[in-house]
Amino acid sequence: MKVLITGGAGFIGSHLAEYHLAKGDTVTAVDDLSTGSKDVFKGFKPDRFTFVEGDILTWKDLDREVKRADRIYHMAAVVGIVRVLREPVEVTRVNVLGTERLLESVVRSHHLPELVIASSSSVYGHTKQELLGEESEFIFRPEQGGLTGYAISKLTNEIQAMAYRHIHGLPITIPRLFNAVGPRQSGNYGFVLPRFIKQALSGIPLTVYGDGTQTRSFCDVRDTVRALALLAENPKAWGQPVNVGNAREITILDLARLVIERSGSSSPIEFITYARGYGSEFRQTTQRRPSIERLQELTDFRHSWSLEQTIDDLIRRNSDRIVPQGRLL
Ligand code: UDP
Repeated sequence: MKVLITGGAGFIGSHLAEYHLAKGDTVTAVDDLSTGSKDVFKGFKPDRFTFVEGDILTWKDLDREVKRADRIYHMAAVVGIVRVLREPVEVTRVNVLGTERLLESVVRSHHLPELVIASSSSVYGHTKQELLGEESEFIFRPEQGGLTGYAISKLTNEIQAMAYRHIHGLPITIPRLFNAVGPRQSGNYGFVLPRFIKQALSGIPLTVYGDGTQTRSFCDVRDTVRALALLAENPKAWGQPVNVGNAREITILDLARLVIERSGSSSPIEFITYARGYGSEFRQTTQRRPSIERLQELTDFRHSWSLEQTIDDLIRRNSDRIVPQGRLL
């Protein structure tokens, strides 16, 4: 199978590439390297793998590569809380127009590659429901600016995907991704776990924002990509949003404690106000836990990584790359 991955040098994109290469597929990854990095491809053999530096809005070979692809994962987006708050115009431009350009290219190609258009758990906004099912209502707060813009850009991607499926019959999967974690995730743009791992291994304080009672449900990226592939190949999954994540929930304070415990670190925990972390306008999402019933009804997906196993794996991979003061080699 020939696979095209937009945002292929990003965290999830690079794991999708690795997954398909291991299956014997041919992979082309395109990325503008705005948050992604070519370093993620270290060890990838070039015989079935091509990386192209390109912006999803202007990449001139898009039509040619779309025509060749049997499956396309559209992961190219402005992501990470730091970029989302800093670059609100880019969020709309890249996330909405980039998706539109890709979908138009697929229509022009007159063939039907399986398409995965990445959505996000952020579409649930500030919904108060404890367990988020795909039918849950959304609550957005306009005063949240950039973050609401990101959530709505991802919701727009879902609407775009459903519209193109309805009008052009495209075989589209729409995963709502919940907090993926694992190797190669960078803490530079937000993303708590790589930050905690780096802090614990360097012996500096783990920075817990707020009082740490906010919860998240973390899913190992290697489980995430397996779920995406299972959904993409299943026609029953096409045309509807499907939560992809892990229903186990943990407070951020307990996550910090778990990282300290498993790494044997002597780092203390430091509580930092949200205002200091993200600016005074920021309102925290207190909880985000997926119902994965729909995913399990549609596929025989089971997780193979526990949070402890992921943390241990990250500690093992990073312990020789850290120097004191938290600088990553
Ligand atoms: N967080 C934290 N310390 C950090 C980075 C993040 O306490 O150094 C918190 C953040 O406030 C949020 C949670 O960890 O409550 C998850 O943040 P992340 O950016 O990983 O994902 P998201 O907020 O998009 O779910």
